[in-house]
Amino acid sequence: MPYVIASPCIDTMDKSCIEECPVDCIYEGDRKLYINPKECIDCGACEPVCPVEAISQDRRVAEEDSEFVEDNRRFFTEVLDGRDEPLGAPGGSRKTGVIGVDTTMVAAL
Ligand code: SF4
Ligand code: SF4
Repeated sequence: MPYVIASPCIDTMDKSCIEECPVDCIYEGDRKLYINPKECIDCGACEPVCPVEAISQDRRVAEEDSEFVEDNRRFFTEVLDGRDEPLGAPGGSRKTGVIGVDTTMVAAL
């Protein structure tokens, strides 16, 4: 059950969560951050540090934000703007640096 980042992160992005993640699986888009469901070890360390309560386990995401569960996954499985292939599981956001683009859903919000 991976953790996911939902709508309150959009345009907030203070990045406290990145500092806490022991496996570096939180990646930075343009207006929001995304947790890689393949890399997240479900430790929960990121959840309490988010000042806007954007992070929760996927099965506890608020109903109005339920689309964000799939959208966190899409960030890694779909080909994002300006890229030739999906990010997949690149092994940490320190390796990739800022990705700088969002999913189609978030970009359209
Ligand atoms: S701590 Fe919360 S608002 Fe800040 S970047 Fe992480 S998910 Fe987004
Ligand atoms: S639950 Fe743990 S492993 Fe998953 S994103 Fe949060 S801090 Fe990283």
